[in-house]
Amino acid sequence: MGKLFGTNGVRGFANQDMNAELALRLGRSLGSYLKKGDTVLVGRDTRTSGPMLVAALSAGLQGAGVHVHDAGEVTTPALQYAVKTSKGRYAAGAVVTASHNPPEFNGIKFIDPDGTEMRSDKEDAIEAVFFGDRFRSVEWSEIGQGHYQPGVNAAYVEAILGKVDAEAIRRAKLTVVLDTSNGAGGHTAPYLLRKLGVHVITLNAQPDGTFPGHPSEPTPENVKDLVVATRAFGAHLGVVQDGDADRCVFVDEKGGYVDGNRTLALMAGFVVGQKHGGLVVTPVSSSGIVEEHVKARGGSVAYTRVGAPVVARYMLDHGAVVGGEENGGIIWPEFQHCRDASMTLAKVLELLATSGKPFSALLAELPSAAAVKKKVECPNDRKQKALDAFAKAHAKDRVDTTDGVKVYVAEGWVLVRPSGTEPIFRVYAESKTHEQAEALATKSLAEIREIIRTA
Ligand code: MG
Repeated sequence: MGKLFGTNGVRGFANQDMNAELALRLGRSLGSYLKKGDTVLVGRDTRTSGPMLVAALSAGLQGAGVHVHDAGEVTTPALQYAVKTSKGRYAAGAVVTASHNPPEFNGIKFIDPDGTEMRSDKEDAIEAVFFGDRFRSVEWSEIGQGHYQPGVNAAYVEAILGKVDAEAIRRAKLTVVLDTSNGAGGHTAPYLLRKLGVHVITLNAQPDGTFPGHPSEPTPENVKDLVVATRAFGAHLGVVQDGDADRCVFVDEKGGYVDGNRTLALMAGFVVGQKHGGLVVTPVSSSGIVEEHVKARGGSVAYTRVGAPVVARYMLDHGAVVGGEENGGIIWPEFQHCRDASMTLAKVLELLATSGKPFSALLAELPSAAAVKKKVECPNDRKQKALDAFAKAHAKDRVDTTDGVKVYVAEGWVLVRPSGTEPIFRVYAESKTHEQAEALATKSLAEIREIIRTA
């Protein structure tokens, strides 16, 4: 049996591996897994292949006797919120998106009735239907019906207003430069900011699946216009959302790019401070500044394997107050258990408004750290032995085996993670400065090579 679902659903090149036939089969698989008469809420980002894939996916669902409500162009968190708050009306959600990938890609991600990314055991069951051709084909009289479901983006925006101190944000009279990367965020974030009384200047806010502005991954390379505009308009901050608006990255009022680890640390500290403690959840690959800052504010940190759905599930099971990844994906459990760029933006504005400090000054209060990423070759059949030996060699240190092996040493920490697809280890090293991180990585790479050689 093959493997269909990755960390974020099924992805591929539009009209090649991610084609209408695959979408149809995925629709038939999900539909056959669900009960006859169930309803699925379907939505998509702005990619040009989106309408075709939604049509095929919907046909597959309907042929299995499942009704389809089509939300149209929506952000991923807006669709997740609609599913979560449907009071059981939706047995599942499905988003056609390839997130931050280039425009020629697309993907399909399934959502559980509670609004989180679908549990992997359910995905496995759907895969079994897919690969076993165990599709349900209903009688003509039972074919699923469908209609357009407007208002998903608007309801999401309204709901965010109730989850932040909107009055404080309005009083602060903030100016924000917002870049929605020609993605689905153009349908939500500008309206949210306007309702929060923010003077908003938009870049690339027109939804356009060819992504004419810049690639939709929020890297330093792709925020150059945002940096220029933030400075030129004298804005309090600039923000860029990725293509499906679950992640966002900020620039401060001076135009400085804010690494996602620093945003996560800042916001986790803010929430823990507001709540006088609480649990923060993040993958083992995140910067130690998150733990340092959260602990200083009276909270605690739990680490998970890498992957936002894993973080979200852990947060749900352990009652965390906030969590997220180093890539700009922050999860706000009082709102919903998924990464959410507009909710993140609203909370950052709340922090700015209630602290009265410039964004750069708030960031300057964080501990400093620098991380480097390397890789080292290791045959797949020797990976486990090498990982065990690496952990054993550091028996005296704090060792975390949640995902690969992470060891805390005097200089900082080192994480060795096996790649799932290549015969390599990914090696992360973090220390106080970039030079120290490089030195730690060099030392650790030599140690790991020797361990692999003798494993
Ligand atoms: Mg995304």
